[in-house]
Amino acid sequence: MSRIIDVFVDFFFPNICVICGKNTNNTKSSVCHTCIQKIDYIKTSHCVTCYQPLPDGGAHCWQCKRTKYHFEIIIAVGKYTGILRELILKFKEKDFLKENLGEILLNALKSNLNIDKIDYIVPVPLSKKREFYRGYNQAMLLAEYISGKTGKNIIVNNLIRVKNTKAQYELNREERLLNLKDVFELKEPWFFKNKSIVIIDDIATTCSTLEECSRVLKKSGAKNVYGLVLARD
Ligand SMILES: [Zn+2]
Ligand SMILES: [Zn+2]
Repeated sequence: MSRIIDVFVDFFFPNICVICGKNTNNTKSSVCHTCIQKIDYIKTSHCVTCYQPLPDGGAHCWQCKRTKYHFEIIIAVGKYTGILRELILKFKEKDFLKENLGEILLNALKSNLNIDKIDYIVPVPLSKKREFYRGYNQAMLLAEYISGKTGKNIIVNNLIRVKNTKAQYELNREERLLNLKDVFELKEPWFFKNKSIVIIDDIATTCSTLEECSRVLKKSGAKNVYGLVLARD
């Protein structure tokens, strides 16, 4: 029932903020400026490799000190808390959040990486089953937005999921890594040789999905792989 009301509200009041209910003063925006500002952004004091917040300072988190990842770095907008968490959860049902979330993701990318260095943008593929039920892949929508604003080509249907997996949030760290073993493959591996790639997902928790995608890309000769996510959990 609430879904029906949601659809009704979205249709007749398109410029109402999905978080606080106030007018966004912009028909293109689904979130008001005040709510966007209240996101728990990660700006300073984070791990230089995986963007994990480090309130006590230091360059690397304990995990990155003992792990050699295949990605160069991960870039995140903010912590998976408060408004950002709410927006990501709503993004699973409302594809029109693409513009707002795409914009904050683009800002995070620009302030952490020289865009000239990037060749391709690749969204993390969703399982066919999950994409069918949701109607879209959020990572794909974000990748489309970034591609549109930067002019970088987005590559889809090359990095593919060859196995359906359990949802990662149901599992602990070790189970997550096992769950993803041999899940991703490249259809045309030669395509990424010597290229620098930004892979996009909505959340990084243990970084195991981004790591597994990076491993496959690096095995095929990719030069640099950067992970870009909305939230670092
Ligand atoms: Zn608001
Ligand atoms: Zn780290």
